[in-house]
Amino acid sequence: MTEATGIVGEFFSLKEDTDADLLTMQCGDFYEFFGEDAELVSEELDLKVSQKSSHGSSYPMAGVPIDDLTPYLKALVERGYRVAVADQYETDSGHAREVVRVVTPGTLLETSDADAQYMAAVVDGSEVGGASSDGYGLAFADVTTGRFLVADAADPDEALTELYRFDPVEVLPGPEVRTDDDLLGKLRERVDATLTLHETDAFAPKRGAHTVREQFGTETVDRLSVGEQTLAAAGAVLSYVEETGAGVLASMTRIQAHHGDDHVTLDATTQRNLELTETMQGDGDGSLFATIDHTETSAGGRLLKEWLQRPRRSLETLEERQASVDALSTAALARDEIQDRLGEAYDLARLASKASHGSADARDLVAVRETLAVLPAVAETIESTPALADSPLSAIVDRPDRAAARELRETLEEAVAEDPPSTVTQGELLRKGYDDELDEVIERHEEVREWLDTLAEREKRQHGLSHVTVDRNKTDGYYIQVGKSAADGVPDHYEQIKTLKNSKRFTTEELEEKERDVLRLEDRRGELEYELFEELRDEVAERAALLQDVGRALATIDALASLATHAAENRWVRPELHRGDDLTIEQGRHPVVEQTTEFVPNDVRMDEDRGFLVVTGPNMSGKSTYMRQVACIVLLAQIGSFVPAEAAEIGVVDGIFTRVGALDELAQGRSTFMVEMSELSNILHTATEESLVILDEVGRGTATYDGISIAWAATEYLHNEVKAKTLFATHYHELTGLAENLPRVANVHVAADERDGEVTFLRTVRDGPTDRSYGVHVADLAGVPDPVVDRSREVLERLREEKAIEAKGGASNEPVQAVFDLGSGTMQTESQDRSQAASTDGGPAGESAAAIDPETEAVLEDLESIDVNTTPPIELVSQVQELQERLEE
Ligand code: ADP
Ligand code: MG
Repeated sequence: MTEATGIVGEFFSLKEDTDADLLTMQCGDFYEFFGEDAELVSEELDLKVSQKSSHGSSYPMAGVPIDDLTPYLKALVERGYRVAVADQYETDSGHAREVVRVVTPGTLLETSDADAQYMAAVVDGSEVGGASSDGYGLAFADVTTGRFLVADAADPDEALTELYRFDPVEVLPGPEVRTDDDLLGKLRERVDATLTLHETDAFAPKRGAHTVREQFGTETVDRLSVGEQTLAAAGAVLSYVEETGAGVLASMTRIQAHHGDDHVTLDATTQRNLELTETMQGDGDGSLFATIDHTETSAGGRLLKEWLQRPRRSLETLEERQASVDALSTAALARDEIQDRLGEAYDLARLASKASHGSADARDLVAVRETLAVLPAVAETIESTPALADSPLSAIVDRPDRAAARELRETLEEAVAEDPPSTVTQGELLRKGYDDELDEVIERHEEVREWLDTLAEREKRQHGLSHVTVDRNKTDGYYIQVGKSAADGVPDHYEQIKTLKNSKRFTTEELEEKERDVLRLEDRRGELEYELFEELRDEVAERAALLQDVGRALATIDALASLATHAAENRWVRPELHRGDDLTIEQGRHPVVEQTTEFVPNDVRMDEDRGFLVVTGPNMSGKSTYMRQVACIVLLAQIGSFVPAEAAEIGVVDGIFTRVGALDELAQGRSTFMVEMSELSNILHTATEESLVILDEVGRGTATYDGISIAWAATEYLHNEVKAKTLFATHYHELTGLAENLPRVANVHVAADERDGEVTFLRTVRDGPTDRSYGVHVADLAGVPDPVVDRSREVLERLREEKAIEAKGGASNEPVQAVFDLGSGTMQTESQDRSQAASTDGGPAGESAAAIDPETEAVLEDLESIDVNTTPPIELVSQVQELQERLEE
């Protein structure tokens, strides 16, 4: 290929210097992509490709008008691409171009999504060296709001838990993490983020600590008391934000340490099982968040979601939230009023970032102004409603510097026009009275405009003309247009510039002079206003911390009012929280299922002597729902919410762990027995006496006796060693026997009944184990012939007593003994033994029964060698298919 020159050459040389996936380069009024980039963009975004010829070669080219770039950038970034943007600027010798920004998923400012948009860095402590460098360091930044958090994590699992909690869109793995296939694999599986390899130097701990101190101040950083690896992660994030040119470092005003210890541990699996922010199918609708979210603002919604993902352990924090929810749920009128006002609020944290970045326009400043006005209005309602005034709400609205907020609002009120345009370079952004020089320009501008506006009338009067209009367009500038009939009678000083079908256009010396005036004044006004506007925008950017505080206060009120609304509309009650073991829920409901179902409420009673419930009941009776309901109620209580029950007393927990048996998950191709066991192992390692553990059919992913044994041993361990509050749903009736031996284990069952020959699920949870022969009973009800039903009762009896069962009617039509083999979980019949014996005897009957041809034997061997635990379900199916085909042959 020949060396490209000119614009195309410039493009390729800029492209070579960036590590972004794509480059777009400004060429006059367009941003252009060339070569492969053009082809890729056109494929992804349905953009038209043309050919650009340059010195005998031709290159694909695709472009978008300057003003339309944002949506295209967004779309590309959302597809995971990192896009470099090169702007054009004037030089003495013409144009030059330079990459000014690399837009990436984590640094995209132009998001319209209400969700938080975190970028994360993960650093493995061992790469840091030194004594305090155990574990992992994490940093999270949301460039759209200026939020910046750091966290230490003890091990990879904890790191993953936090990563899942923050759900970042882009992750910068540290140098060591990049080679950790295990961690990267899990990260890819659980977090839908772009992995970016940021320069290794940026992760150097010394440099990181320095960058972080520069940004947030030495004292703040020391107070955080986080590990070196965590400062390294924070430093890497800061350097990345700077390097990509997002220009929002100024809006990152505070660094906060996220302490896992203040929060309820919720591992990734639990967050998914409880469908906190999306359902198992991946929909937002139907999640716990979607159900309880009645927030008015996107910042409020973001905060409520954050609360759900990070429930708290501190009684003080929780009781404070409860008190606010309580007050707001009873003061319905005041709540309505507050929510109406919140409906007028914009996203202040996002606006602060836009101001810092320099992309806020005058309308954004109007939004700031209007939102700043919401705070005193909300405060006023709170202060004038006794129930609210006495609640923690008054402290929340007082937390931001209200005087400073009022000052900034007044400045914006004096400065920015009522309804400014979104273009910032053409004037009419600012009010009269804001700046003397501008006032003068505006006055003269308006004078000339007034003269132009009234010109048509004057000409009509003075020269007795009819059908006269004065207007302007790009080619003719200002002109006087006279209807054809009157065009012959125009005065001599009119100079004709154009003839149209029904009219003629003229100009005069005076009009041309005024036109020059107006253009000059427009230019001057646009320039001056832009200058003043930029100053004003910088002033707003400097108040980023204030805007974030006000935004936070409004978001908090919004989230609390949302909890109050949901509580009031659904008859939820305030749970009594304490530090003890007791968990008592009277007439509890599942917060999501109750929305769509005639829900049958149920009690829960757990305490020091009853800390482990074995939940039995037929399939589909409601076991899983019951247990999830308990977990959801505890979780809701620990975000400060009311709960769906008549009354509840809840001992706060330090973690909620759930695991659903692999069989249910296997069906969805999500899990293998191996995963089930490693998650069980994780629970057994990390749960404590203060945790809540929910095990749903654990052990089901393997052969019966294997499963029972694992479930049995896990129960003993949880009961004796871990001592966590546990609910264990199982269809292994054997486990109900544990209640007799282990003091804290109790049986409950979900009742089902038979009336008029039909099974009714009562959905009522009662003490004691379920009826063991329920399945046979259902078979009976379903009309299975009596002899079969009677016989199954017999077999069941024998099985329970682990006695041999006679298999009736073997090949020889004689009764055969079969024993359930504990080792393999399969039936061993004596007739098999006998026929094997017969074949060694060489008897004719034995031959036919025992002879297995080598082909079949090979199939059996292959079958045996398949590892069910590690083979993906789809592959299993195809392997079995293949074995079947071979058998048929
Ligand atoms: P199991 O785990 O015992 O197989 P599930 O918990 O999956 O049963 O519940 C089966 C069905 O019964 C679900 O559709 C669920 O919505 C419904 N259900 C469960 N508990 C209740 C209840 N208390 N009130 C009303 N419907 C319920
Ligand atoms: Mg279930």
